[in-house]
Amino acid sequence: MADGERKRTLEVARRAPLAGELSGRTVLLVDDDPVHLRHVRDGLAPHGYVFTEAHDGAQALSAIRESRPDLILMDVEMPGLGGVEVCRIIKANAGEDGFGFIPVILMTARQAAGKVEGLELGADDYLVKPFDMLELSARVKSMLRLKALQDALVEKNRELDRANKELAARREELLALTRTDALTGLSNRRAFEERLNDEFARSRRYGAPLSLVMLDIDHFKRINDSFGHPFGDHVLKAVAQTARARLREVDLLARYGGEEFIALLPETGPADALRVCERVRDAIAALELEHVGGSGKPQCVRLTASLGVATVPSGDLPSAEALLRAADASLYAAKGAGRNRVHQHAA
Ligand code: GH3
Ligand code: MG
Ligand code: MG
Ligand code: MG
Repeated sequence: MADGERKRTLEVARRAPLAGELSGRTVLLVDDDPVHLRHVRDGLAPHGYVFTEAHDGAQALSAIRESRPDLILMDVEMPGLGGVEVCRIIKANAGEDGFGFIPVILMTARQAAGKVEGLELGADDYLVKPFDMLELSARVKSMLRLKALQDALVEKNRELDRANKELAARREELLALTRTDALTGLSNRRAFEERLNDEFARSRRYGAPLSLVMLDIDHFKRINDSFGHPFGDHVLKAVAQTARARLREVDLLARYGGEEFIALLPETGPADALRVCERVRDAIAALELEHVGGSGKPQCVRLTASLGVATVPSGDLPSAEALLRAADASLYAAKGAGRNRVHQHAA
């Protein structure tokens, strides 16, 4: 038994019901002899158990199926399905999907051989008729305590399972948050860099083209200065959505810095990458964002962005860092050439 499990068992044991708390537990009495059955029932009556009765093995099984008793007290010698067979069926179905654990005490008139047989077939205890009522009471009590202990343990394990699942889900959520940009909902720089390394390695291994795009909003400072920081944030979200909508599902778009975005386009060569960049640039230039100032009069705000793009495999770009630098230099070139344009790194 693992340490944790032992600790849990002890903890549950401490909380298991005392004898008096066992009243109300359900006991299934199975005997083909109605006189003996009543005798047992009368003997146990003072403890406040709730009894159900069956007079043969088949009845016993349907009673168990209908309402899982906490304990079964069963005669071995019955016509048809005997106590030993019923016991074997119960124990074969002891899994969580079956009956679960139900302790069985067998009662028999036969002595020596029957005793061994009964315990081997999974009976939890055994009484030889005629038996002393005090002994019967004691055995029933201890079996009911065992059952309560087992039930508590099963419930505790279920709780633990639930807690573990919940924890795993929360961990997933948190992990996702550490990779997400809060303002735009895009991946953040960290998530991008991880994916860049993976994609670069993949591209190198298979010789597949991989393009990297850097996008920077033109004169964004002016937008902030003219319309306020909250409107600037609104612009960032609009640009993020616009760019995302122009990319394929497998392309990764991330917010790289303040008003800088970065995109990774797997399986995309220079010509396709240029087309994608132009499409994104066009869409941003076509945006018409409404700003409502202090006067209450709405004003249409337009903006543009500049993009730099580089593609591997390329002889002069031996690493992911070199690819990143090339895209950045291209962006710088686009800005220098007058903004609102795409500049492509020449291989
Ligand atoms: P350029 O065309 O040369 O790119 O000019 P620019 O004004 O866009 O460039 P610059 O990098 O000088 O300014 C970027 C501005 O972006 C400065 C900063 O205040 C603003 N900024 C950065 N992060 C955020 C943000 O999260 N929200 C808002 N509203 N503004 C931001
Ligand atoms: Mg009998
Ligand atoms: Mg910038
Ligand atoms: Mg800028």
